[in-house]
Amino acid sequence: IEYSGEFFSGTRAELVAAVKQSLSEHRFQHVLRVEQAAIKLAKLNDVSTEKASIAALTHDYSKERSDSEFKETIKKYSMDPDLLNWGNFIWHGVVGAQIVSHELGITDPEILNAISRHTVGVPKMTKLDQLIYVADFVEDGRDFPDAQIARSLAYADLQAAVIFETKHTLQYLMSSNKTIYPAAIQTYNAWVAGH
Ligand code: GDP
Ligand code: FE
Ligand code: FE
Ligand code: FE
Repeated sequence: IEYSGEFFSGTRAELVAAVKQSLSEHRFQHVLRVEQAAIKLAKLNDVSTEKASIAALTHDYSKERSDSEFKETIKKYSMDPDLLNWGNFIWHGVVGAQIVSHELGITDPEILNAISRHTVGVPKMTKLDQLIYVADFVEDGRDFPDAQIARSLAYADLQAAVIFETKHTLQYLMSSNKTIYPAAIQTYNAWVAGH
C-alpha cells in the first residue's frame, strides 16, 4: 500500500521504521499483524486503506513509554487530570494519540480518534475506530480460546465483532478481578446491552 502524503509526510516504509524504533521486536510484530488485519477489514467495509494502515501502525506507538512520561504528557497538554489516576492500559491509547500527533506529525482527527479509542472503545465508533479496535483483537498472532471465533466474525460482520470483543474483554477483566475503566462500561452499555 502506497501513501498519498495527505495523512503522514513520508512513505509507509518511513512510518514503519519510526514505529520499529519505538517498540520491542515482539510488539512491533504485533503492530504489523494489526496492520494486515486492519487493511483487510478496511477493504471489506469501504474504509480508506491508507488511514487503516496509519492508524494500525501507530495504535501502540507509545505503549513502551514510562509512566512518568505519560504523566508529564497529560500535564503538558492539559489533558483530563482524572487520567493521572489510571495506568498504561488507558494512557497508551488516549495519551498515545497526543504523542503520535506531536512526534509523527499525524493530525487527522479520524486517525487520532482510532488510536485513542482502540483499547476501551466509545459508544459511537466510526468504521475506522471499529476496525482498529477489532484488528487489535483478531490479528493472526492472537491465540486466546475464542480468537478463531472472533476472527471469523470480524471478516463477516464488523459490528458483530465489536460487540463480541467488548463483551469478551469485560468478561475477562471481571473474571480476573481487574478494575474496569468507567468508559469501558459505557461502551458495553451502548454496544452489548443496547443491541
Ligand atoms: P494491546 O495494547 O495490543 O495489548 O491491546 P489493548 O490496547 O486492547 O489492551 C491493553 C491492555 O489493557 C490489555 O491487557 C487489556 O486486557 C487491558 N484493558 C482493557 N480494558 C481495560 C479495563 O477497563 N481495565 C483494565 N484494568 N484493563 C483493561
Ligand atoms: Fe493497545
Ligand atoms: Fe484492543
Ligand atoms: Fe495492540
